[in-house]
Amino acid sequence: MERLGNPQEHIVMIPFLAQGHIIPFWELAKKLQERANLSITLVSTPLNIQKLKSTQSNTCKIHLVSLPFNSSDHNLPPNAETTEALCLASTALQTPFQQLMSNLASKQGKPPLCIISDVFMGWTNRVAKLLHITNISFSTCGAYGTAAYHSVWLNLPHRFVKSDDEEFVLPGFPETCKITRAHLHKYVRSADGSDQGSKFFQPQLSLSLGSFGWLCNTVEEIEPLGVQVLKNYTKLPIWCIGPLLPPRMLDSSSSNEIFGNRAGKEPGLSAETCVQWLDSYPENSVLYISFGSQNTISPAQMMELAKGLEESGKPFIWAIRPPMGFNLTEKFRDEWLPHKFEERMSASKRGLLIHKWAPQLDILCHKSTGAFLSHCGWNSTMESLSQGVPLIGWPLGGEQVYNSKMIEEEMGVGVELARGLESCITKNDVKRVIEIVMENEGIRRKASEISEMIKQGAGQNNGKKGSSLQAMDDFVSALLAYSRT
Ligand code: UDP
Repeated sequence: MERLGNPQEHIVMIPFLAQGHIIPFWELAKKLQERANLSITLVSTPLNIQKLKSTQSNTCKIHLVSLPFNSSDHNLPPNAETTEALCLASTALQTPFQQLMSNLASKQGKPPLCIISDVFMGWTNRVAKLLHITNISFSTCGAYGTAAYHSVWLNLPHRFVKSDDEEFVLPGFPETCKITRAHLHKYVRSADGSDQGSKFFQPQLSLSLGSFGWLCNTVEEIEPLGVQVLKNYTKLPIWCIGPLLPPRMLDSSSSNEIFGNRAGKEPGLSAETCVQWLDSYPENSVLYISFGSQNTISPAQMMELAKGLEESGKPFIWAIRPPMGFNLTEKFRDEWLPHKFEERMSASKRGLLIHKWAPQLDILCHKSTGAFLSHCGWNSTMESLSQGVPLIGWPLGGEQVYNSKMIEEEMGVGVELARGLESCITKNDVKRVIEIVMENEGIRRKASEISEMIKQGAGQNNGKKGSSLQAMDDFVSALLAYSRT
């Protein structure tokens, strides 16, 4: 394969600081390195760079650069993981980033070819303009979720309805695409333009529209509506280059090698132990449960979920954290679950509870995993659907509620069980939805079809590039051509 570009051309990438954004940025950097002959630098805070270095292979030529950043200067705890703290920390990177870009330009005698920044880091457009660099925005989410998220934050349409149940059309979406105020996270529901969320997202998302074009972590074929709405909204070139998953996940003929810990986080259980546990169950029989890297549910919800799981009779693996209101890193207390729940599940081998970081890719790629109860973060959604694993939705924040809506209404590959921390679910709801999703052949068939589309789009079949590979090459060509004008 002929690689476009030359190593004198330099791309600098800067992800938003949440784990769910850093992982796809890292995969994008590796994909770019594979397809283009360019120098690539990824910058972030020292803690994130240290974690990435711990997972970097010897052959990986991506430069990792820590921006001088002291969390105590910005009143942030060192392991800040709440959305508010991450937003604050992201904007605090502006000054050191600008300094780094100026230094790079003077050292290399010319500015870098482009900055690829997260859509949440719209401020890089200011730096880019000042230093005459092209800015590209990258949405680590899907097209539908990205378009809906932008539509809500920039228009705040929920202000114009009278009740939480009154339906309204998302600005920019077709008339049939309706939501209610009750769909929205309470953080968004109370937004009126003067709140902290609006003050961060409105300028950052608007500034991202000043980019040369957008990269989106999806396959065009799986969400045609979302891609169309996003194109209409941005009026910019959109390159759908996803999903940015490890190549082995996209290749049906690949070996069963262990993925292990990609994030450099403290593992709750080794991937080998999980795989062995899964080996003892029949195909599609195990439910996997995880709410991603930042979220958890309320104590009452956790109790009902546990009871529903036990009564459903299905084997499960649950990546479990302390419930809402408690420190996510504190020791797990027995009182958060039904009496002797963990003991019973462990003795009967019915349920495996993972208290720290779970080897999610190894779990989802195992043939015994039959459904994923997920917060519908985009990485989790793509990891699941790429393996044809249907979803049970429990969106909690960000654009997850729109992902969950698309999964159920547009794709037909899952059913929503609950929404947010307020849903009063009972153990019977849990049992009912598990049964619908795990026993329904139609849902499983559709999930397999989506898996096929993802693999086709991201792969190379009979010498013909899939749409995502083609989009990646088109992106690099457009960038090089623009730099020569
Ligand atoms: N993840 C994991 N183990 C865990 C929790 C999360 O490997 O115990 C990974 C998961 O595979 C995914 C990412 O963390 O790649 C979570 O990203 P997502 O977009 O789903 O959700 P977020 O954490 O951003 O809310």
